[in-house]
Amino acid sequence: MLNIKKNHLGKRIISLVILACMAVPGVTVVEDFCAPVIAEAGHRNADEERLSGQRMLEEHRQGSSVKRAKKDSLEYRIQKTLVEANPDKLNFDDGKHERWVDPLYIQIDTWPNAWSNGSTIIMTTEEVRLCSIRLLDEEHPYRPFVIRKDPEANLGVTSDIASVLAHELAHFANKDTMLTGQSHKENIREELQADIDGMELMDKLPQYSPGSMAIVHMKERWYDYGPSLDYPSNYDATRNCLDYIEKMSGNKVAIDDYGRIKVNGALFMDDGTIHGTPEEGSRQERTIYLAGQIASCMKHKVWHKANFVSIDAHEIIPAIEKGTKTLVSIVTPTYMKYLGVFDCPYYYKPDSELTEHELYEKSVVNYIENMIPE
Ligand SMILES: [Zn+2]
Repeated sequence: MLNIKKNHLGKRIISLVILACMAVPGVTVVEDFCAPVIAEAGHRNADEERLSGQRMLEEHRQGSSVKRAKKDSLEYRIQKTLVEANPDKLNFDDGKHERWVDPLYIQIDTWPNAWSNGSTIIMTTEEVRLCSIRLLDEEHPYRPFVIRKDPEANLGVTSDIASVLAHELAHFANKDTMLTGQSHKENIREELQADIDGMELMDKLPQYSPGSMAIVHMKERWYDYGPSLDYPSNYDATRNCLDYIEKMSGNKVAIDDYGRIKVNGALFMDDGTIHGTPEEGSRQERTIYLAGQIASCMKHKVWHKANFVSIDAHEIIPAIEKGTKTLVSIVTPTYMKYLGVFDCPYYYKPDSELTEHELYEKSVVNYIENMIPE
C-alpha cells in the first residue's frame, strides 16, 4: 500500500549517516557504518536501525513540521494501547530491550501517509483526518467528508487509527527495517504481511477490529495513488485483509468486495450489510468492523450466545451521550470484543416511542444476538 509505508533505504549513499552519528549523542555505531559507502543488501544491527530511523526523521523535518504526538493525544494513546497489549512483540524504551518503539511523530501534511523505520514512526495529519471521515457510499453520496464531531465517540475512527499504527508497529515487530536492499517482490510481501500481523496486534484489544485494516485501504481509494513496484495494488491490499478475516473465522465469515458479509453461509440481514449513518459510519465501515470482530470471537472460540452483552454505550465510551446508544459486545472473564455501537437507547422504551431509524438499529442488535449459536 502506498500511504502506509516504511521508509526504504536500500542502495542509497549513506554518507549523511556521519552527520546523524554526530547529531545523536550516546548512540554507538560501528566505525565502518559511518563511512560513505553504498548500502548493500544485508542486515542492520539495532543501533544502525535506530540511526536510520532518526535520519528518516531529520529528512522529513527538512521539508515539513514534524512533532512528537502529545501524550494526551488520541493517536499516542492508541499507540500506547497497542504496544502495552502486545508485550511479546512490542515495547517502548524500558531500559531492558535492545530495540524499542518511540512515541510517534505527527507530520503536518496534506497527503495521507505513515512511515516507520527502526524506533521511529511518523503519521501525517491528513492520515489522521482520513481515519476520521466516513467512507463514501451509495447511501450518502453527497456527504463523503463528514468528520466525526468527537473521534473518541466513534469506534470506527479509533479502530482506523489503530490499524494504521498497527501496520507500522508490525514492521517493527517483523524487523523489516533491519533488512536493506530487498527485492520489489520481497517489499510487497512485507507490506501484505504487516497488514496481517497488524490485525493480530489489534486483535488483543476489545475496541479495535481487524476489519479496520481493510477499511483504511478502502478510504485510500479517494487518493490518486499511482502503481508502485514496492507496494501491492489497493485491491490486492484490501482483499488480503478481507481474506485474512475469513481465515481468522475458520472460513465462517465471508466478505465480498463490496463489504457484504455472510456468516455461517447466511447473508447478514437483508442485504449483507448494516446500513450506514452519517455519524456511525458507512455501510462498509460498520459491516466490516463487525465482520472482523465476529471473526476474532470465532478464532477465540467465544462466539456463543451466553457471552452476548448489550449495555448503554456511555458506560464504556464516556464520550457517547448517556441513554442514546447501545454498545454490543462479546464478553468472557478473559476476553472482550465490541461488535458495534447502535443508534438506539439501551434502556427500555416501547417501540412506539422509537424513531424509524432507532427501530432499524434495534433490529440489527436483535439480529446479531439471534444469529449467535448457543
Ligand atoms: Zn508498510
